[in-house]
Amino acid sequence: MDIDPVQTNIDPNTASEVKICERFSASDSDITIRSSDGVLFRVHRKNLTMHSEIFPGEELEAKDDVDLDESSAVLELLFQFMYRQAQPKLSETSFSVLESLANAVEKYRVFPGIEVCRMHMKANAGMSPLKVIKYAVKHGYHDVCDAAAPKSLNASLSEARECLDMSCLVAWMIYRDSVMSALHRSPGIVMHRGGKKTCSAWDEFYAHSISAFAGRPAQVFDYARIIGHWKLRLSDCHWCLQRAGQWEATIQANLSRVPKISSLITL
Ligand SMILES: [Zn+2]
Repeated sequence: MDIDPVQTNIDPNTASEVKICERFSASDSDITIRSSDGVLFRVHRKNLTMHSEIFPGEELEAKDDVDLDESSAVLELLFQFMYRQAQPKLSETSFSVLESLANAVEKYRVFPGIEVCRMHMKANAGMSPLKVIKYAVKHGYHDVCDAAAPKSLNASLSEARECLDMSCLVAWMIYRDSVMSALHRSPGIVMHRGGKKTCSAWDEFYAHSISAFAGRPAQVFDYARIIGHWKLRLSDCHWCLQRAGQWEATIQANLSRVPKISSLITL
């Protein structure tokens, strides 16, 4: 669940509806924060200044009401890092809220939330890998970037261009090309009886194997399972079976030489 109950009151002065986050509605609050979707959070300056390096800057000093760019779902989680209470269960949070929260804790330097958000973004690398790369590049997290990159390779170029800035996009394309090259470098030849270089069993095996990777570069990392599956068709030809083994070893060696994407990007 992303949003806790929101109380709706009527403002006696304007007769308009006022939405207040129930979790943060302290009667002794000394500052009110309004989310981008209009929900009020009645909180305490001392908590904000104690747990955040810059939250929310000079505005906090000068005003009793502050508008922030983040949604109520994000602020409700953000403030939980600033109060002595159970920390939010981010494993139950949708990715879009987690992404905004992870950027918000960095923006406001809310230290109690930075590491936990980083770990959850890394754990979500498979769910939205391009967005995780974008977050990791923005905040300089090499390990998160490298965890997401292999899972991002099935995205189209236009999807990558939408999410990544130009220097990151170029790095992503070089990385993707390196991974695909690992697959396509020659599997070598094993001579058959009578001086034949191959046989029909190989053609069938190779066509099936290659088609499993077509348009899905991320599958290259799963080469052992895919080739292992189609290798069963080679049981009648031990030369082709040997050749398939060589191909697997070649891919493994090639993949070990693929640069980490973080080494291609200036983080
Ligand atoms: Zn053969």
